[in-house]
Amino acid sequence: LDPTNEKFSPEENDVEKKLRPLSFDDFTGQDQVLENLQIFVQAANGRDEALDHTLFHGPPGLGKTTLAHILASELGVSIKVTSGPVLDKPGDLAGLLTNLDDRDVLFIDEIHRLSPIVEEYLYSAMEDYKIDIMIESGPNARTVQINLNPFTLIGATTRSGLLTAPMRARFGIQSRLQYYNTELLTTIVQRSASILNVPITIEAAVEIAGRSRGTPRIANALLRRVRDFAQIKGNGNIDIKIARFALEALHVDAHGLDEMDNKILTTIIDKFKGGPVGITTLATAVSESAETIEEVYEPFLIQQGFIMRTPRGREVTEQAYQHLGRVKGPTQGG
Ligand code: ADP
Repeated sequence: LDPTNEKFSPEENDVEKKLRPLSFDDFTGQDQVLENLQIFVQAANGRDEALDHTLFHGPPGLGKTTLAHILASELGVSIKVTSGPVLDKPGDLAGLLTNLDDRDVLFIDEIHRLSPIVEEYLYSAMEDYKIDIMIESGPNARTVQINLNPFTLIGATTRSGLLTAPMRARFGIQSRLQYYNTELLTTIVQRSASILNVPITIEAAVEIAGRSRGTPRIANALLRRVRDFAQIKGNGNIDIKIARFALEALHVDAHGLDEMDNKILTTIIDKFKGGPVGITTLATAVSESAETIEEVYEPFLIQQGFIMRTPRGREVTEQAYQHLGRVKGPTQGG
């Protein structure tokens, strides 16, 4: 089981879609973000204008795509979905843009992975709702400018640090999504269980929530696996016993840390005596990019109190030693 893996089978994707909240009221958590978005949507609806271009950033699985769909639905418009790596050529983008109706939403996932040419092409579309398109070819080739319908670009990125400054400046609304606490995730697990029609006790929901790495997508993935255990090994209901049994069998960490989280902690302890260690050195040691560590792994490890950021680099905390069942070496300072 790799709940952080976003590539589910088509069948799992269908279930995932079923669990997706469809309106502001349906969406749990991120209160501040939601409150602001509701105001901006109401204002845009009142003026009958397109919503300002909106950027969501934050770790995977926290609800960026979900919010893009909710925004389109609350604006009463259609949404077209694409992603940075898929948009190879300006022509691909032109096709999408010219098909947008008034106030429609274009959602670009992984927007930090747009090619520079496509990105540049997007600028005038975002700014003036105009694009240049090339007509004919060879000696007759020329560009003509065409007007687009006013639209809203919604971009999502896990790596806001990789977004170019001009790109970022073109988003009037920018929201950072936060990890969810256990209470919020419990609500999400209960909601998902009721959509899946599987009875679950409150204790079991809390147990699954607490092991979900602060991430709704992981909470839903774990719920589905625990449901399988309940069906085959139990009577179909999820109680604390079957939940614990299943999570144990799935080797899910008590804090929901994944393999890379644990690798980062053990590496700092074993190779760098608990730190401090610089981010690039650490990245090389765990064979992951420094950006990914900074934007995907580290925020959760810091939030959970396993790592501290110091001027000299990253240090693990006492809690990390305890979590891994290690004893802090005598040579350690602090
Ligand atoms: P991202 O785009 O940030 O990677 P998604 O929007 O795809 O994340 O969310 C992953 C899944 O988690 C969704 O399918 C949805 O079912 C669930 N989810 C995300 N945020 C929430 C939330 N606030 N409440 C309930 N479910 C959520």
